[in-house]
Amino acid sequence: MEGSKITIDEIEKMPVLSTLLPYWFWNDTTFDRVETLCEKCKKEIGPEMMRGRITETNRSVISLEAYALCYDCQLITPVVPLRIRDDGSLLSKTQTGWKESRYAPEKTIGLLGQLITLFTGGEK
Ligand SMILES: [Zn+2]
Repeated sequence: MEGSKITIDEIEKMPVLSTLLPYWFWNDTTFDRVETLCEKCKKEIGPEMMRGRITETNRSVISLEAYALCYDCQLITPVVPLRIRDDGSLLSKTQTGWKESRYAPEKTIGLLGQLITLFTGGEK
């Protein structure tokens, strides 16, 4: 899939990215913002000016594919592929590999945290 060519027609058939966001994971972690810079004028482009799609890899991971449209430059800048995880971290693809960063603060410590919550009756 990666490296495959995509046509403007295909991009225009995709939904505006802001209509797909925010994305709520099963554990209430919310992914709501993605930005990129226009390749040419370096203007910041948000999801309102992107087309894209979200693929649910499994309930903990989604993949985001998006294209930023700059009408000033008449240019489409592809957003780096993102793998977004339900723990608030994401991986973005760089030339040298996948780079990890955070989009939301760490909320739970995964399954163990949930079990502890269950046993203690838990406060969120
Ligand atoms: Zn531009």
